[in-house]
Amino acid sequence: MFEGFIISRPVYFTEPSSRCGYCSAKKSRDEDYYCLDSWYRNSVVHANNSEGTLAENCTLGFQAELLSVEMYDRLCNMGYRRSGKFIYKADMLRNCCRLYTIRTQPDLVIMSKELKHTLRRFSKRVLPSDKPLHRNPKGGCHYIDEIVETETLSKSFRTCFEPSVFTEEKYRLFAKYQEHVHNDFDHSARSFKRFLCDTPFSKETVLGTKEEWEQLNNWKGFKQGDRLKRLGPAHECYYFEGNLIAMAVTDILPSGLSSVYFIWDPEYYKWSLGKLSALRELSIVSKANLKYYYMGYYLDDCPKMSYKAKYGGGLLDVSTHAYISLDQVTKLKRPGKLFAVEATSKSEAEKTHSSEFTLNDALLHAPKSISETAALKNVAEEIYGVAGGAYSEANEAAQALASLGIPYAVDELPFHPQTKEPEENEMHNIPNVVPGLVPLKEVLQMIMKDRISVLEGTVTLYDLLEGEMRRLERFEDESPEIKKILCDVVRLIGLENARGLLLLL
Ligand SMILES: [Zn+2]
Repeated sequence: MFEGFIISRPVYFTEPSSRCGYCSAKKSRDEDYYCLDSWYRNSVVHANNSEGTLAENCTLGFQAELLSVEMYDRLCNMGYRRSGKFIYKADMLRNCCRLYTIRTQPDLVIMSKELKHTLRRFSKRVLPSDKPLHRNPKGGCHYIDEIVETETLSKSFRTCFEPSVFTEEKYRLFAKYQEHVHNDFDHSARSFKRFLCDTPFSKETVLGTKEEWEQLNNWKGFKQGDRLKRLGPAHECYYFEGNLIAMAVTDILPSGLSSVYFIWDPEYYKWSLGKLSALRELSIVSKANLKYYYMGYYLDDCPKMSYKAKYGGGLLDVSTHAYISLDQVTKLKRPGKLFAVEATSKSEAEKTHSSEFTLNDALLHAPKSISETAALKNVAEEIYGVAGGAYSEANEAAQALASLGIPYAVDELPFHPQTKEPEENEMHNIPNVVPGLVPLKEVLQMIMKDRISVLEGTVTLYDLLEGEMRRLERFEDESPEIKKILCDVVRLIGLENARGLLLLL
């Protein structure tokens, strides 16, 4: 069996921010679209009118035909998410919204009144009235025990994990959800399948074994030290009185459970099923001895997404590959803005942005969690602001790469100058500076020091137009175009992650 992974060449595209699923270009102030104050001021200077121009929706990523769950786990911890088979992230500088990867752990959840209330009402709805829960006499609430006990006693409510395959019943639920919750009547069975059933994982991973599913569905009965056997995508179907009322699309990864999407029957609006699903999934993480709960993207200036802060945890600083606690981030930056941390004292974070730090080497390890007490400074403006150091450094590297025959060019401005209305899905080169991508300076070093040769003999190139497949023999001998595509892959996923790659051209 083929052991590697298969992806397309990286893409970078822009759309008008009216197409942004989070802000829909409806922010109240123009400056709120920009990552940093200097970017906003710059946009005003360069705009044709004095009011500035709106930032666009800027996405980069690749189509993944085959990935292992381990590889996807690493990508999630680099700020990527998946939509079907498409692996993507927003450009944190140019996008209209800042999309932060958020992860938490079961014991970091603080049960607010609202969450307690949601749980109480759930227990009431699904338990017979003569079987109330054994509550803590002090009136305390431990949500995990409460969920486990409620679901064990309930005769009317149950959930079932199963392979993420299409069924008519699931599609009917999706259709109802889209129409009532998102006012979208333009859905189809095909779009549902592509969005919530297709995955980049192998067929064996998707289907799993009967034993794996049985063990997963028995998560309430796990003992300490039991290891979850099921890794991969799953649909968790919620049934009440025999009807499918909700479905969670999840990926179970070695480092934790990742929530991909959640759909629910609008007739059950009052159940607050979205909030309940987060508490349930956190309970599963705890009982099944997983470590983290990945809640997707967090936007602190988007009411639809800011609720995620209720579950605690931290946000990923993609430029240092470290999670910073939400409390710390709140102190360091204003809503909607970019942050990049630097430790102000010698501590565990001391290497971030220091001369010996390289993002590529940091990506070899799981991201650090910077402690609550670390003294941190937000250096986003110094690095990524219009007068920040990142652009001249990247432009110098781009020129040096060009002189080695790899066609990078100097970015005249750090942003895409908007002289016209952006068109739908406009494709671009990847800008020279994107936070979280391996910097061009590091890519240049890899070539100068011949570290890039680790790809030789392990990367396969598949030219789809010519129908030709071949091994990468010597990087040096490749055409300028192929060299640049390989460098872009390294920028997106790191050098070592690119070993074993089959690249579709
Ligand atoms: Zn937006």
